[in-house]
Amino acid sequence: MTFVIPAPAQASVAVAGTADRFPVRRIFCVGRNYAEHAREMGADPDREPPFFFTKPADAVVDSGATLPFPPATADLHFEAELVVAIGIGGHDIAEADALSHVWGYASGNDLTRRDMQAAAKAARRPWDMAKGFDRSAVVGPVHPGQAVPTGRIAGLLDGEVRQEARVAEMIWPVEGVIAYLSGLVELAPGDLIFTGTPAGVGAITAGQSFTVEVEGLNPATVTFA
Ligand code: MN
Repeated sequence: MTFVIPAPAQASVAVAGTADRFPVRRIFCVGRNYAEHAREMGADPDREPPFFFTKPADAVVDSGATLPFPPATADLHFEAELVVAIGIGGHDIAEADALSHVWGYASGNDLTRRDMQAAAKAARRPWDMAKGFDRSAVVGPVHPGQAVPTGRIAGLLDGEVRQEARVAEMIWPVEGVIAYLSGLVELAPGDLIFTGTPAGVGAITAGQSFTVEVEGLNPATVTFA
């Protein structure tokens, strides 16, 4: 096949312990999956089923990157999250089978233009530009084929702990997220799922670094120039 313009590069993220890369097809994100974070955003965590938004595949950034501060925001927020990398696709996946569709897990940072998101919420407009901007999905190395992490998840701003919880506190665990999401869209190899952030989100400014730690995984770090 000959394309009429140069074909876009395949987006990908690092894999722990090898120079091989995990190709990225789509990026799904869960909103409000930790009760304390739902409350800090003004929602009732007991009354809402999971909801999803997306980022473009080429929004991924490897851990260790130094990025330009994004445009159109005065309130860029960090969100420490567990990221699930799908290796086997499917639709209407049962919770009991869900983990067999996972290729691996990574630490991630769902960067958010919070001021733009607040304006979108107030105007009942979409979140795309608040969530899906360029270089908005920081992903650490994907660890293949291990048990779903349930331990400590933390976010550190310039080395100071700002977010801390346990993955097991998620309202919708990984199995439930995969089952629910696969009833809305068909999942495919290369899909990433950001599973939501604990309480303590806040602003990161130029010159600062943020590190996401998930027990058992390599961290995901980003620095803003
Ligand atoms: Mn998030």
